[in-house]
Amino acid sequence: MAFESLSDKLQNVFKNLRGKGRLSEEDVKAALKEVKMALLEADVNFKVVKNFVKTVQERAIGADVMNGLNPGQMVIKIVNEELTNLMGSETTEIAYRPGQQITVIMMVGLQGAGKTTTTAKLAGHVKKKGKKPLLVACDVYRPAAITQLQINGEKQGVPVFSMGDKNKPADIAKASIEHAKKNGFNVVILDTAGRLHIDEGMMDELVEIKESVDVAQTLLVVDAMTGQDAVNVAGTFDEKIGIDGVVLTKLDGDTRGGAALSIRAVTGKPILFCGMGEKLDDLEQFYPDRMASRILGMGDVLSLIEKAEASIDEEKAKDLSRKMRKAEFDYNDYLDSMAQMKKMGGIGSVLGMMPGMIPGMNSAQVSQLEGAIDDKKMAHIEAIILSMTPEERANPKLMNPSRKKRLARGAGVDIAEVNRFIKQFDQTKKMMKKMPGMMGGKRGRMKFP
Ligand code: GDP
Repeated sequence: MAFESLSDKLQNVFKNLRGKGRLSEEDVKAALKEVKMALLEADVNFKVVKNFVKTVQERAIGADVMNGLNPGQMVIKIVNEELTNLMGSETTEIAYRPGQQITVIMMVGLQGAGKTTTTAKLAGHVKKKGKKPLLVACDVYRPAAITQLQINGEKQGVPVFSMGDKNKPADIAKASIEHAKKNGFNVVILDTAGRLHIDEGMMDELVEIKESVDVAQTLLVVDAMTGQDAVNVAGTFDEKIGIDGVVLTKLDGDTRGGAALSIRAVTGKPILFCGMGEKLDDLEQFYPDRMASRILGMGDVLSLIEKAEASIDEEKAKDLSRKMRKAEFDYNDYLDSMAQMKKMGGIGSVLGMMPGMIPGMNSAQVSQLEGAIDDKKMAHIEAIILSMTPEERANPKLMNPSRKKRLARGAGVDIAEVNRFIKQFDQTKKMMKKMPGMMGGKRGRMKFP
């Protein structure tokens, strides 16, 4: 299992910490010392480990403990976030070229890393995305590699372009693009030759291919089980030919995880996919956050953390609703709540947290409300409110036709848009007043913890 031993060790470290209601600085430091050992034993790059522990320590010692968590759990939350950051926070997708342009993906890597297998796996992934991929056999040194690609391509239902082993890889690549253009393929995946070790000849050949066709993405395939060697290989390939990202193979057999945790931090290049087995569908998109959770393996604490985070959102919603129900709800509050709603994914999600709280409001009215604050219009509305004088913002009743005309000019929008917004604002206010549940009336109060 991936990360098994690291996961076990980290869980042991946190077992003592998680139940604690109080943590001293010494407790945190002692725990992080053990985390450091665990990461080093997992073959994570020592500089990465040093920075990681430093960051976690600074954050943990200065942190306010979130409602619903104890200090130990708060430290776990920070470790989880920093592990995610280490692996790049965001999931990186293949950057396809827009429109009819052909996206050329060049696969590079050392022999045995799993490049040919991964190339075929990737073709399947690309096909599932609705693209039309073409595989290209540029490894002319091992006839077996061409056959392997053909067999795997057939299994994936993806055609393989090959010119045997008598042509230069750069020429094969060029010819394959012509073939793709003529036959309507929009993604070309080049399987290039690897060597047992990095050598100049291989690098020169890769550079030549890259110069002869317009490569959109160069993906390096590395074997996770080789730990820091994989990281070094990534550094060298990036320096010599430039890579855009990494596919980490054999993660299924990597109990340590050093490569997964170091590559991004050391080379700055993201991991796009990981290989989780020998079968052609054993390729997974790489999600840093899920990987971090998998490493920590503390489902219960992590879901507690999620809950604590959700309750912060509820706090914000409560605050927002308080503002909304105020009889004196003005344009300043509107501006505030707009910012708030933007963060929470629109008013729909705010209303969704208040089931049954809007008697008399039907779905058309809710969508009218949503329409009033949809993302595209938000910028205009913001400009309209910002064009108001402080008096106008604080006292909506002041609005009149000549003021509206001035606002339209100020915000650079049509007068009709100003009218629509002012009308919607008044309606919103009216609707908000119809929420007795939220006003603490007979129907009961909002059920927030
Ligand atoms: P290449 O020399 O880089 O083209 O490597 P191959 O594609 O021939 O793969 C080398 C070996 O690694 C083969 O036995 C593959 O089945 C195996 N392999 C590739 N990817 C994975 C993976 O993600 N997990 C496991 N367990 N084996 C893999």
